[in-house]
Amino acid sequence: MDLKPCILPDLIEAASQAIEAHAEEVSALDRALGDGDHLTNLRRGLKALRDQREQLAQASDWGAALIQLGTTLMSTVGGASGSLYGTLFLSLGKALQRASLELEAFARAFSEAVEAVKRRGKTQVGEKTLVDTLQPTAEALLATAQSSASAPAIAAQVKAAAIRGMESTRELLASKGRASYLGERARGIVDAGARTAQLMICAVADALVSSPSAAPGCGRERPTAG
Ligand code: ADP
Ligand code: MG
Repeated sequence: MDLKPCILPDLIEAASQAIEAHAEEVSALDRALGDGDHLTNLRRGLKALRDQREQLAQASDWGAALIQLGTTLMSTVGGASGSLYGTLFLSLGKALQRASLELEAFARAFSEAVEAVKRRGKTQVGEKTLVDTLQPTAEALLATAQSSASAPAIAAQVKAAAIRGMESTRELLASKGRASYLGERARGIVDAGARTAQLMICAVADALVSSPSAAPGCGRERPTAG
């Protein structure tokens, strides 16, 4: 796996389509546990990223592209999730000042970025937030990056971890965000932010494995081992 920023438009498109395919469900979740604006917030951010696709694709350095992504999300998404996604991508961008990206470096940077999100949100795993999706994803990335598994096998493990994390929020009580006011009434409902994080992670993992970018110089070397 050796990725260049020209893959970004494909990944943004995949994430957007996954959110649109589950728009009703996401809205209903944030209406049940929050104030119902999570879908609108995310849509605003994803549209801003789609509008910047040319510029993002042409970035010569992952650091610049990811910092642009983070800055855009920070200023367009709004809500609690805007500052958390902004933090995630700004942290990734600072750690990944390089032209091409390998899985192991990404896995380390992603784990650090999730720690930055936890600090920013003052949140740990188990508080019924998007951190419950991000943390197991980071752990799966770290574990698989050091293995000799094939790209599809790595994607499958990362997706399974994200889904497990998202599902774990169903039975949790919330102690962060608006859902914390609901007490026991929050039980039985998945957290909207955990669900959208999982949807986007799964979409990006699938896109990385199955749809090589048509952009010149944007092919990927797939690991053949495993
Ligand atoms: P807001 O809560 O401001 O309306 P959104 O609706 O866009 O913002 O996002 C809500 C999601 O943000 C929640 O479902 C939860 O996953 C996440 N969230 C809220 N507060 C925190 C926090 N302190 N730490 C981590 N995630 C949080
Ligand atoms: Mg909300």
